[in-house]
Amino acid sequence: MVTVLYKSTRNSSIRVESAAAIAQGISDEGGLFVPESIPALTMEELKSLADKTYAQRAAYVFSKYLTDFTEAELRYCTESAYTETAFDTENIAEIAHLFDGTYMLELWHGPTCAFKDMALQILPYFLTTAVKKLHMDKKVVILVATSGDTGKAALEGFKDVPGTQIMVFYPVEGVSDMQKRQMVTQEGDNVTVCAVKGNFDDCQSGVKQIFTDHAVQQKLESGGMTFSSANSINWGRLVPQIVYYVSTYVSLAESGEIAYGDLLNVVVPTGNFGNILAAYYAKCMGVPIGKLICASNINKVLTDFIRTGVYDRNRDFYATSSPSMDILISSNLERLLYLLTGEDDAQIRNWFTSLAETGRYEVTDHVKQKMAELFYGGYCDDAATKATICEIYEKYGYTCDTHTAVAVHVYEAYRQETGDTTKTLIASTASPYKFSASVLEALGQAPADGTDEYDMVEQLHKVSGMEVPASLAALRTKPRRFTESINKTEMQQFVLQKLHLN
Ligand SMILES: *Cc1c(COP(=O)(O)O)cnc(C)c1O
Repeated sequence: MVTVLYKSTRNSSIRVESAAAIAQGISDEGGLFVPESIPALTMEELKSLADKTYAQRAAYVFSKYLTDFTEAELRYCTESAYTETAFDTENIAEIAHLFDGTYMLELWHGPTCAFKDMALQILPYFLTTAVKKLHMDKKVVILVATSGDTGKAALEGFKDVPGTQIMVFYPVEGVSDMQKRQMVTQEGDNVTVCAVKGNFDDCQSGVKQIFTDHAVQQKLESGGMTFSSANSINWGRLVPQIVYYVSTYVSLAESGEIAYGDLLNVVVPTGNFGNILAAYYAKCMGVPIGKLICASNINKVLTDFIRTGVYDRNRDFYATSSPSMDILISSNLERLLYLLTGEDDAQIRNWFTSLAETGRYEVTDHVKQKMAELFYGGYCDDAATKATICEIYEKYGYTCDTHTAVAVHVYEAYRQETGDTTKTLIASTASPYKFSASVLEALGQAPADGTDEYDMVEQLHKVSGMEVPASLAALRTKPRRFTESINKTEMQQFVLQKLHLN
């Protein structure tokens, strides 16, 4: 088998093995790690995955990317992560029919009820295996900036994992009640959760700054520790997301919904551009994926970018009913642009320096044209999100969360605009129970002010008939452990203090 090395989007001459890319999280000069070539998956190989479990399909895909991991290591990681104790379905990801030729890929059957579990259940195994392989013999400190779902999923993945410590920062007003409750009640001896007075971008920039600060790194080094990232800038977060596109294609073909070779469009409610980028990688590998439909909420920096070639974060930031997509800096776009420029690291450095300094960059006509061929960008405001939740509940008896509704709305617009009736997969990224208040309101059952999350959960259960996820029900009686909130300028100090390094 060919060895796949990883290079940095900001310095193509850097070459590391996947274990190092995962352990480091981000390259020293701030670039993101990408595989130097994208492995291929033939139609025969796709067919050969048919009678395999999700964990086995995952191990197969990983063997193409993480070529320095042994087969036994990959089997250990996949079989530890994709279990029926962690996920409430043996299929791990479920496929539901919305209407003829349109399928919902339910990625929220894991322990925290959002799609982040698909990657964050396995990342700790990748990371601890990588650290062992590299003989690093250091404690790995995971810093996470979250817009709501990553934080909880990372906490669940890393809690009490030997040799790791995890710290999560979330925007104080930027997450749903249930998301906040999930995080502040987190159990485990190696976890810290802290609110930041700012938005998600403030949290993300703060974390990135701490990560790349040499003085901080040296302090860690002397304390026998090293940073890594559980955000989707880490390749170990991205590669597990490729698996469900591969696996779902096989499952749809096996159930006769599509024939092997048929094109399948993919719609993804997008924030940091990680999930949709994974679909693009699956397409590059050879999975017959058609149009990639990128759905945003009113923070529509990506819609504008896909349509104009100008990325401009100088705009108002809105807190919406789909908070996990309230993002103005979509980190993973850097990986796509690296690929679309033919791996032009100088160009990427230019654009991202410009983004850091002016909040804006404009890509070349060539890249703009490629973007338009591959992607369709659309957005959906909160009013349309609500209307969509209501519409698909009434038309198809399907209850979806706010993020998924954004995707459905943008897909409907795409279909109307283009007349494209290619069969389509819509990523359903969270359980509606995580956003009970918004979903109930959309269904005309607005909870009275002051109604607690659990009365809403009950109410939503009555309306939707969907089972309440056991992991959410269990939070009700758990004590709130983490109540601290800090300014964004205090993040570095906070981290050093918690690590006893100041
Ligand atoms: C994180 C998240 C998204 C956005 O995914 P990206 O990979 O950041 O684009 C969408 N929906 C939900 C529910 C999420 O948690």
